[in-house]
Amino acid sequence: MKKENEDPNRRSFLKLGLLAGAAAVVTVGAKNSLLADEPGEDAGNKVKVKTSDGEIVEVDSNMVNHPAEGNLEKINVREPIAGKKFVMVIDLARCSNERACIEGCQSMHGMMAPVEYIKVKKMQDSELAAPYWFPTLCYQCDNPPCTKVCPVDATFKRADGIVAVDSERCIGCKFCMAACPYSARSFNFGRPEQVTISETKKCDDNHCCTTKSEMVGTVSKCDFCPDSAAKGILPACVTECPNGTIFYGDELEDAVTNGEETFRLSELLKKRSGYRQFEELGTKPRVYYLPPVNRQFPFEDAEGPVNTIE
Ligand code: SF4
Repeated sequence: MKKENEDPNRRSFLKLGLLAGAAAVVTVGAKNSLLADEPGEDAGNKVKVKTSDGEIVEVDSNMVNHPAEGNLEKINVREPIAGKKFVMVIDLARCSNERACIEGCQSMHGMMAPVEYIKVKKMQDSELAAPYWFPTLCYQCDNPPCTKVCPVDATFKRADGIVAVDSERCIGCKFCMAACPYSARSFNFGRPEQVTISETKKCDDNHCCTTKSEMVGTVSKCDFCPDSAAKGILPACVTECPNGTIFYGDELEDAVTNGEETFRLSELLKKRSGYRQFEELGTKPRVYYLPPVNRQFPFEDAEGPVNTIE
C-alpha cells in the first residue's frame, strides 16, 4: 500500500477532490419570522420572497428580517452530492476502543450520550482466537431493507450512496429499526440537553446537520456526514480517532483517507482481504472491514489486558 498524502489538517480531503460538487442550499424561514414589525429607513424598495408554505410575496426590503449568519443554511436531505459514491473502510487492526470516534460523532451531530451512532463491540471469533474491537455503524447499504419498510418514505437511498432519514417526515414507527439486521438505528426519545444543543446548532465546519438527531420521536442513525463531505470536511469519527482506524472516501475516485494516509480503495481491499458484514444477506453494505491481523495494540478491556499481541 502506498502512502500518497500527508495532511497536517486531518479534517480536509485535499487531493481527494471531494470539494467538488459542494452545494449549500440557502432558504428563508417561515413568513412569521421573515417579516419585521416596522418598516425601516429604506422603505420603498420592493423584494420578492418565498415563504415556507411556497407562496411568493412582495414586501418592502426593509420589512425583511435578516437572521443571524449561520442560521440560514439548510440541508436538503433528499439531494445527493453529485458525482459521489461515498464509502468507508475500517481497519480492525488499529482499533483500541478509544471511543474518540463515538464522542466526535456525538459532537458533530449535537447528540448527547447515551445515543451513539457508532458502537464498538468486543469480538472473539473462537475460544482460542484473540479478541478484538469491532466498530459498527449504519453501513449505508446499497440494498437496504430499512428503507423498504418505511410507510411514509422518510428513509431512502440516495444516488451518492447515503441512506438518509428525513427527520421532518419520520413518524417514529420504528419499522426501519426492526428491519435493519445490523441494529444500526436509534430512536430519539428526547432529552432536555439535546433540545438545548439543537437551539444553538449550526450547519458549520464543526457540525453535520444532514440528520436532525435532536428531533424527538424520530429515528436517526449515522448518515456519513455528506453535507460536511460536500465542503471537503472529513467526518469526526475519522479525524478524532488517534489510530487512524477509519478511512472515508469516494468509490468513484477509488480513494479513501483517514486524513493522514490515502489509499486506492480497490488495492486496499484486495491486499488486505477487505470484507463486508453479513455478505450473505445481500444488503451490500458500503462499509468494508480489514481483518484484525498484525494488530497494532494489545487487547485491553475494563479488566485490563486480555492478551498480548506480538
Ligand atoms: Fe439500513 Fe441497517 Fe443497512 Fe443502515 S445498516 S442502511 S440502517 S439496513
